[in-house]
Amino acid sequence: MPSLTRVAAAERAALLTVESYDIELDLTGPAERFRSTSTVRFRAATPGAGTFVEVRPARLLGVRLNGADLDPAALDDNQYPLTGLAAENTLVVDAEMAYSNSGEGLHRFVDPADGETYLYAMSGMDNAQRIFACFDQPDLKAPVTLTVVAPPEWTVAGNGRHGTAPDSGRWVFAPTPPLATYVVTLVAGPYSVRRAEHDGIPLGLYCRRSLADHLDRDAEEILTVTRQCLDRLHRLFGVRYPFDKYDQAFVPEFNMGAMENPGLVTFRDEFLPRSAVTDAERERRANVIAHEMSHMWFGDLVTLRWWDDLWLNESFAEYFGTRVTAEATRFDRAWTTFALHRKAWGYAADQRPSTHPVAPAEVVDAAEALANLDGISYAKGASVLRQLVAWLGDDAFLAGLREYFAAHRFGNATLADLLAALATSSGRDLTGWAQVWLRQPRLNTVRTEVRLRDDGHYAEVALVQSAPPEHPVLRPHRIGVGLYDSDPAGTGLRLRDRIEVDLDPAVDGGRTVLDGLTGQPAARLLLPNDGDLTFAKVRLDAGSVAAVPAALPELADPLARALLWAEALDAVTDGERPVADLVALVVAALPAETEVAVVQDVLARARNLLDRYLDPEVRPAALEQLAGACARLLAVAPPGGSGQLAAARGWISATVDTARLTGWLAGKDVPDGLAVDAELRWAVLRRLAVLGAAGEPEIAAEQAADRSASGAEWAATCRAALPDPAAKEHAWRLLVGETSLSNRLLEATARGFWQPEQAGLTDSYVERYFAEMPAAARQRTPWVADRVAGLGYPRYAVSARTRELAAALLARDDLSPGLRRVVVDEDDDLRRALAARR
Ligand SMILES: [Zn+2]
Repeated sequence: MPSLTRVAAAERAALLTVESYDIELDLTGPAERFRSTSTVRFRAATPGAGTFVEVRPARLLGVRLNGADLDPAALDDNQYPLTGLAAENTLVVDAEMAYSNSGEGLHRFVDPADGETYLYAMSGMDNAQRIFACFDQPDLKAPVTLTVVAPPEWTVAGNGRHGTAPDSGRWVFAPTPPLATYVVTLVAGPYSVRRAEHDGIPLGLYCRRSLADHLDRDAEEILTVTRQCLDRLHRLFGVRYPFDKYDQAFVPEFNMGAMENPGLVTFRDEFLPRSAVTDAERERRANVIAHEMSHMWFGDLVTLRWWDDLWLNESFAEYFGTRVTAEATRFDRAWTTFALHRKAWGYAADQRPSTHPVAPAEVVDAAEALANLDGISYAKGASVLRQLVAWLGDDAFLAGLREYFAAHRFGNATLADLLAALATSSGRDLTGWAQVWLRQPRLNTVRTEVRLRDDGHYAEVALVQSAPPEHPVLRPHRIGVGLYDSDPAGTGLRLRDRIEVDLDPAVDGGRTVLDGLTGQPAARLLLPNDGDLTFAKVRLDAGSVAAVPAALPELADPLARALLWAEALDAVTDGERPVADLVALVVAALPAETEVAVVQDVLARARNLLDRYLDPEVRPAALEQLAGACARLLAVAPPGGSGQLAAARGWISATVDTARLTGWLAGKDVPDGLAVDAELRWAVLRRLAVLGAAGEPEIAAEQAADRSASGAEWAATCRAALPDPAAKEHAWRLLVGETSLSNRLLEATARGFWQPEQAGLTDSYVERYFAEMPAAARQRTPWVADRVAGLGYPRYAVSARTRELAAALLARDDLSPGLRRVVVDEDDDLRRALAARR
């Protein structure tokens, strides 16, 4: 399917004004297909001109333009040509459409728990055309009136309100305000529903019946967060929530975290967990709720004109999602999680060959936009906004946004529109700032340079900014510097002073001397970017690096600790310090870490570095040390708490003590307060499977006892992880050949396939990946193809040979853009791992 280009979209937008969509869907037919009739009313600026409408039917039944029947056979791939337009046009397209199992279009899912069928629509980025005929681009917004015919026992919801539930199974929804096609949605099935209200806005929560108990348990928390965030956003934006209700539906096999459909946000239903989760995971859910709600303004009320400005959606939603979570909910340390977890995603993406500006000047088509849903559009963009707020001041920033909402309400906007509003509100010219922060890719590194006098006082402290040689752009940064001393009482580390400075490379060439510190007694620890105002890698001075292992457990501020952990992880990722140093730091400091988000992140990233950067001969000893650190954390963590659960998961995935693992499954020697519940049982079984201590009989037995969708996914992961040639071959065939498997089961299989412990067994699949993945990718939708290609990449085959195979593949000219990007980036990660091993 050709991806709509920027040029074609601009031409069509210049010609057309869409006045309304009437969409009628009949969901009562046979299992594979549904009937879709869309009536589009639109004006053409140049009567007599032609254009096209997108539709991706299983069978096109009829096309009628201004009363004249057209030939369905004229459909060319996903575009139907429309010629001889009148000034006012009515187009009716009648089609049979296919349900999807890829999470795109109208996804159909049968719950293994009870056999019930659930549907939800996912229209982003350009999948609305899999549901109804439309002009599928973000700047042709129009009111949508949805009618759905469904089995009588089903519940249906759309973007707009509906009247009372009908007896006949015919659901008619109120016309919406103008919507972009990519946010048109519905859910349909025997969904379980809870209703509430806040500040005059009807609230609804939807989930599968088999998850209703989990929703009952969590509904109050979800609704509380929803109410707190609504109130806060109303205050910040000064503009009321612009749609007529706010439903949140937790849906199965959802690809993203959630999708910001106006009036009906869809979330992956893992956010209604059946087993114990950590508080960091509850925070994550709150953050996603706040993120999607922020989109009601950024993206839904004011929509990007074209995907160049994806950041106007995602960077703002990430920024305000985190801010509102921190300011209005009980998860007041959301910026700490952001500093360590989300920003690592942004830093990594910005250092890869595929990096791009936060706001690229030209995104050529929708396919490129999909690839740009990355750590740059989310985390870097949000960090850059945080930096902008530090620079402009919050009042000017918010005043500019209010102007922007007022000027473009229910319309579309661009970077230039936003900058104009902010320039008016702040009285500053943002052109130069936007040029280096939004239009240029890559990031700076800020190092502290310290010279001491003989008496231990500072002779000079400087912040030195650098940029990668291939992209030597220095930037203005407003940055904090924290000076930490040992508490005189010997009970910890306390902040002596935090200064804020402006680094201005135009003035000092990138080396800024902190004059105020000259002559002061040297701090035990000097932390650049304290407070995390800017987006830059940092490196501590040598004295501070040496102080970190002892200082971390004494430091009360979780954000400062997160920044120190981030610095340590990043220095090892860059090959500047050995993995052994990181393992030693984890052993010394992680058992004392009280912030569970930090524990989880450090464990996950340390584990990844250890698996890839260490030679096979030294890896087991390092893994044992990591498992030991988890065991100590497990011993000291309060029973039943998040820290205990995070430590248990870390220990399970790192240990080789199969006897103890097997004992846990039987309830033997389980730490007090730790529930070995459904999810933890599967985590144990996965580790046993990887180690060859459990096989198909144990997996089948566990799945028989757990008929849930999660159970099916875990079973797929465990099967793919077995150290058995037949199991690997079967899993591989699913990854490269199977199209009947859903998106989520494919991902689960890909997750299990490669294990660092099984290098010999999977060696031949390294070559097969590069030989077979291009054809496999072509038979899948872009999203699923890219996910399988990424999760299925031979990430532990750290060798020159793997890199040669990648280079040979990249030399071909028939790769999909998504596969090319996956291979380019994964290969760059292997380059780093290989360099670190040398
Ligand atoms: Zn978003």
